[in-house]
Amino acid sequence: MSVSRFLLFCFAGLIAAHALRAESRIATPDAKINNENAATESSITFSSVHVDGPYIAMTFDDGPSATLTPKLLDILAAHHIKATFFVIGENVAQHPEIVARAAREGHEIGNHSWSHPNLAKMSDAGVRNQLQRTDDAIKSATGGHPTFLRPPYGSITEREKRWIHDEFGYRIILWDVDPYDWKRPGPAIVRNRILKETRPGSIVLSHDIHPGTIEAMPSTFDELQAKGLKFVTVSELIRMAVPRQPKPSPQPTESIPAALAPSVSPTATTPSASPAVTPSLAPSPSG
Ligand SMILES: [Zn+2]
Repeated sequence: MSVSRFLLFCFAGLIAAHALRAESRIATPDAKINNENAATESSITFSSVHVDGPYIAMTFDDGPSATLTPKLLDILAAHHIKATFFVIGENVAQHPEIVARAAREGHEIGNHSWSHPNLAKMSDAGVRNQLQRTDDAIKSATGGHPTFLRPPYGSITEREKRWIHDEFGYRIILWDVDPYDWKRPGPAIVRNRILKETRPGSIVLSHDIHPGTIEAMPSTFDELQAKGLKFVTVSELIRMAVPRQPKPSPQPTESIPAALAPSVSPTATTPSASPAVTPSLAPSPSG
């Protein structure tokens, strides 16, 4: 199949997929429908990602903690796992060296506001201040600007998402696996909840400020890896996004290169009818 025919086929599939999930998407003005990542180009909010492979993203919120985050970094290094940290600006200002270490060791750093307020209930000026100060603190600690926002409690309005994306360039990262570790239910329950709910494309929420969460991680990582799941950062997970399989009618006469063909991996259990990018969660006490 020629490149142009292949792109045309992708385009037709994407149009169908877009029609199915138009109500849950926000289009960006510069969306480009020119490659297999087109499904993500026009979306700014992610709570999971449809991927063609056993990839997941572990995310840790509310740190850095002076004692627990370094412990977690040691555990991640021992397991050769890259994670994503959604840090609070106040904590970054107190422990920039920990955030610098996380970035140096290949982890991703996202903005989780300066002091963990409910952004949906704030003025634009207040939100802007929360995000800018944290962006500055992360830049100062790591040398790079964050590209993601996780709103505290997952609470953010659609209007805020749009202007924050326009102004800061952030994508909004929520989650599809929540072990409610902030209630401190004990390491075994944290681990079991994560193992039960995590599937390819999952974004797992946890907090690196609770001792039980850190205690749960070695066995959680071992068991997720034993299931064949592989850990990537949120950026990497989003780059792996593939459109969901369009209805096969009519059947194309030539095969799509396997590396580019969207498909559900044997271990995937997400319903095929759900969108590649799931809509935002309702505000919750987590995050
Ligand atoms: Zn939080």
